Amino acid sequence: MTTPPTTQRPPFPDFGAAEPRDYRMLIGGEWVTAVAGETIEVITPIDRHRVIARTPRGRAEDADRAVTAARAAYPAWSRAVFTDRQRALLRIADDLELMVEDLARLTSLDTGNALRTQARPEAELLVQTFRYFAGLAGERKGVTLPTGDDALSYTRRLPLGVVAGILPWNSPLLIAAFKLPAAIVSGNTLVLKAAEDAPTTILELAEVCQRHLPPGVLNVLTGYGPEVGEALVQHPGVDKVSFTGSTATGSGVAARAGQRLAHVSLELGGKSPCVVFPDSDTDEVVDQVLLATRFARQGQSCTSGSRLFLHEDVHDSFLDKLVAKVSRLRVGDPREETSDIGCIINERQWQRVQGYLDDGLAQEGVGVAYDGRSALTVGEPGFYHAPVILTQVANDWRIAREEIFGPVLSVLRWRDEDEVVRMANDSHYGLAAFVFSRDIGAALRTAHRIESGWVQVNQGGGQQVGQSYGGMKASGQGREFSLEGMLEGFTQIQQVNVRLT
Ligand code: NAD
Repeated sequence: MTTPPTTQRPPFPDFGAAEPRDYRMLIGGEWVTAVAGETIEVITPIDRHRVIARTPRGRAEDADRAVTAARAAYPAWSRAVFTDRQRALLRIADDLELMVEDLARLTSLDTGNALRTQARPEAELLVQTFRYFAGLAGERKGVTLPTGDDALSYTRRLPLGVVAGILPWNSPLLIAAFKLPAAIVSGNTLVLKAAEDAPTTILELAEVCQRHLPPGVLNVLTGYGPEVGEALVQHPGVDKVSFTGSTATGSGVAARAGQRLAHVSLELGGKSPCVVFPDSDTDEVVDQVLLATRFARQGQSCTSGSRLFLHEDVHDSFLDKLVAKVSRLRVGDPREETSDIGCIINERQWQRVQGYLDDGLAQEGVGVAYDGRSALTVGEPGFYHAPVILTQVANDWRIAREEIFGPVLSVLRWRDEDEVVRMANDSHYGLAAFVFSRDIGAALRTAHRIESGWVQVNQGGGQQVGQSYGGMKASGQGREFSLEGMLEGFTQIQQVNVRLT
């Protein structure tokens, strides 16, 4: 069913070339253009004038071709012995391992995420994730009910069918890793829709996967959300939509998929609280809080701890330490090892961040603990942005309620535990949270009371393959990245009752 593993580093396109690379979409094992022949230019955030690639502008007819190919591949793939699917994933992981550096460099170019702090760790995690889910291939098990010798009553865990995976631009490989291996190892076939702003690494990933998968098991579409994305969500041949993106788009996707009773899971936005207790005014905690801010991702992370709650006893001293460290972060070309922070994805997002900053700075009583914008040494033609830390923020201001998706941190004061828990939960989001305290009782008590899908205690960046990942409230529905995520998100149960007499 699959080809042998590649032992040499596979060829990788040269993105140093002046000419943009022309990509095609993967449908039924073939690399194809859009039916209408239209394309989209992919611009690197490092240089607004540089087109690095052209991808097909898929539309409804392309979505239909991809779903048809995925449906055709489904019977054989879903019925294969699980070890066949396991072997395919392991071979993909072996090939990807040889390409970590290439994928990381390409991620820097098409997302603007810094190579050392973001893009490389993400490419490494991709490999681990394929291996992890390969190990889970046999876990799609049923159970037997003890109904006596004259009866057999058992369940089978079956795949859902054709899954549509819709990806955002902020960390394309990581989010693909949440969906792709889990969906296909459990016997589904998949149509991935790459984000229009950052599709190149997904197409390179597909290139590797398709060497080891039968045609149609993985299909990749490119194009705009309201065109090809919408067509996928509405397609009657799609059994499950696994969406990662903004809450506004996700709610429309869920409504349309729900209307035809397709399965849906949603990984959406966040406005996550980061709570520092008075016993944690240390350099080590400041380092972890810095990780939680996701400044190194330009704040373009759904799990960013973008509301920092500092206890009033340590508010000023903790902030001083944090500002000292933030001011040493280097905003620069994301491809350079010395850069801690790369660039924002595009002009629209950059302007959006300015809008939030203008709004926050116009509030009465706001303080500015740090604003690195005037000290930036990089700028045009890239979308660079320095971190900004605003203080004396009220929890009901827009900058404390809405997801900015930029390097802007809102700092709030707190006095007692009940108050900080109430403020942390006073948000329609519930994705991540961070609690820092040496008093493990206080830390866990607070962690347990916070309404978020993922709470970290005394750490700011410890995402592990295998952990349950997903949000509460408007941050989403369903879990991914884990055994339970695979079983709940990509399988369904069939009960079989047999009379043996
Ligand atoms: P987005 O919602 O604009 O787009 C996400 C994807 O949906 C893109 O591929 C887009 O083309 C597609 N899309 C847009 N309209 C569509 C439609 N009508 N039908 C079907 N598909 C459509 O989000 P974005 O700006 O790409 O990503 C940033 C957002 O994603 C942030 O809100 C962030 O918090 C969220 N995010 C969440 C997680 C998580 O795991 N919870 C992870 C990463 C990003």
